[in-house]
Order: sequence, then structure tokens, then C-alpha cells
Amino acid sequence: MDIKFIDLQAQYLSIKDEIDSAISEVINNTAFILGPSVKRFEEAFAEYCASKEAIAVNSGTSALLLPLRALGIGPGDEVITAANTFIATVAAIVETGATPVLVDVDPATRLIDIDLIEPAITSKTKAIMPVHLYGCMVDMDKILAIAERHNLQVIEDSAQAHGARQKDRPAGSYGIAAGFSFYPAKNLGAYGEGGAIVTSDKQLAAKIRKLRDHGSERKYFHDHFGYNARMEGIQGAILGVKLKYLDAWNRGRNRVAGRYREELSGMPLKLPREFKHFYQVYHQFVVESDVRNELQQFLSRNGVPTLIHYPIPIHQQKAYAEAGLTSNSYPVTEKLARTILSLPIYPELTDEQIGYVSAKIREFFGKEYQDTLRLEN
Ligand SMILES: *Cc1c(COP(=O)(O)O)cnc(C)c1O
Repeated sequence: MDIKFIDLQAQYLSIKDEIDSAISEVINNTAFILGPSVKRFEEAFAEYCASKEAIAVNSGTSALLLPLRALGIGPGDEVITAANTFIATVAAIVETGATPVLVDVDPATRLIDIDLIEPAITSKTKAIMPVHLYGCMVDMDKILAIAERHNLQVIEDSAQAHGARQKDRPAGSYGIAAGFSFYPAKNLGAYGEGGAIVTSDKQLAAKIRKLRDHGSERKYFHDHFGYNARMEGIQGAILGVKLKYLDAWNRGRNRVAGRYREELSGMPLKLPREFKHFYQVYHQFVVESDVRNELQQFLSRNGVPTLIHYPIPIHQQKAYAEAGLTSNSYPVTEKLARTILSLPIYPELTDEQIGYVSAKIREFFGKEYQDTLRLEN
């Protein structure tokens, strides 16, 4: 059986006509950078995120960097974030000149351990950047309460959580600003690089818009040094089409997750936690096993691709030491790097394919797992 880790072609084919005509419209009107397709997408995405404004940019990394810069965060400041995240979260903080302060994650949620945030706050702390990892939101009421007590800004890394909700408010609508990524494999993906910031603070939005385009509102008048972080017209057109399907695709991911839960119950495998009051969008379906490497190899031999998000924690990366950052130990994050495995999950995955992946996992724990244990003893 042919199983991919993610099948972007299947998704394209399901909306091919709409996508093709949206792309050719941009080519015909030659609005290659920003332009009407990006503006329309910004309006629709702001509404989707229950925010007043969206600013479309060239990557998720820019979508985290620009709000930090617009808030005046830089050298001498500290920003608290999760130790278990993609490198871009920390890279955006480092790029401003501020110091990232990592906080270990909660083993139950794999998200920032909220109880460890206050002990990490110093007189230099300016912001908290919670990461809604794997499509699962951090408890934002608790984050906002801490931020209020210590007068901190909150910028949500929502790169993996388009459409996730808690209490009917979507990811991105809790902080002063939030950054989204439209990397092709994200829940809402462009056909290239892309990202967006959402905020309901109009002044902040105006600053971010300027930073996106070399500090200018009017061509060749530059109030600040900024970036070229503009979104391409073609990406805006594609994202405008795809946004209409996002809720259905997220429901598809929930269907896959539900099937995995049924098929894998009773296995010696830790499944992702289910949250009663949160709507998860399963950017990844991450299981945990002490024999992760053996399981991954067995699945690979049987045609089931899997990935690890992420195999080397950020504080153990060369880049981290090179930046002169001092490393505490983050035992939960370090353990997760040894035990987590992301199974294929995307809306188009069929019940038959889920059944095959699950059967192989059951087979591993039935036979190979026993052999492994025997070898160890
Ligand atoms: C993908 C991702 C980013 C960065 O997005 P890019 O579009 O790749 O720059 C940031 N944070 C997290 C958690 C991500 O998954």
C-alpha cells in the first residue's frame, strides 16, 4: 500500500480548477507581490482568526520576527518560550537581539509547562511566546493571567494551529499578536513560502505592515529600516482558495486521529492527549514509545513513513551554543526527543491506509517488540 507522510498532490487535485484559475488571474494581472489577491486573503484570514487585522508575509519565521520587532523587543530583553518547538520560534527571538529563555514542556501535553513560566520571569522579561504545537493550543487563560500579573506581551506561535480553538476563540486571537506559517505542509499551506501575523491592535498592525516593506508606507519613503517580508500575489491567491476548505480539512484530520485512537488503543504506546474543552487540529499525530527507533525502522521497512518532531532539542543544537546561549537541562523535552514519533496524518488519508499503518504497529508490538525486549534482557 502506498502511504505518504503527507500527500499534497491529492489535496491539489481535489481543488485543481479553482487553484489553477486563481494562479492564472495573478499572472494575467501581473500583481506578483502583495496586490489584490493578498489583500483579499488578509481580510478573510483576519476574520477567520477573529482578529481585526492580518498582515501577510513571506514565511512563518517572519510572522514571529516582525511582531517582536514592532513591539520594540530587542537587545537586553528576554522572551520566554517552549523548549520543545521548531527552531524558527527561537530563531525569531534571537534575530531581534533578545535572549530566548526556554521553559520545559509538560509531559501530558508536550506544550510549555505553565507552572515553570513564573520562575523563569526576570526583570528583563518582555514577552511570552507560547507555541500551539502539533495543532493543540496552550491554555491561554492561564498564559494571559501570568502575562497580566507581570506586565508581559503575549505573541502566539500559531504556525501549527490554524483553526484550533478554545472556548470558541481561535488560535491567534488571545495574544497581542500571533504568527502563522503557510509552509506547504502546514494545516493551511501555500505553494511555496508564506506566513501571516494577526492582531486586533491597529497601531501594531500598521507598524508590522511597515516593517514588512522596508519601513515604508509610501514607495521610497522609509521611516525605519525593515525587511523585505512581503507575500507573493500567487501565494495570496492560492491561500484565498484554500482557506475556504480549512475547516473541512481540519475535520478530516480529526477523523484520522479518531481512527488511530480506536485502532491503537491497548498498544504499549502513549497517544496524544485529548482535551475536553479545546478543539485540536492535529497538525501532527504524535505517539510516544520507549522503543521508538525500532518502531520507526519497522514501519519504514513496511512502507510507512514517519518523522520526529523534533529529534534534537534546540538547546542541544550547535546554533544554540554558537549564539552563546546557556543551556539549562530540559528533561521532558530531552526525553520526548528520544520517544516521540509522528504518524502520517492528512485529511485525504483513507480508512484503509489508517488501518494498514495501525496493523503494522500492532504487528510490531506483537512480534518485534517481544524480540526487542528479549534481546534487552
Ligand atoms: C513552521 C513553523 C514555524 C516557521 O514557519 P516557516 O514558514 O517555516 O518560516 C515556526 N514555528 C513553528 C512551531 C513551526 O512549526
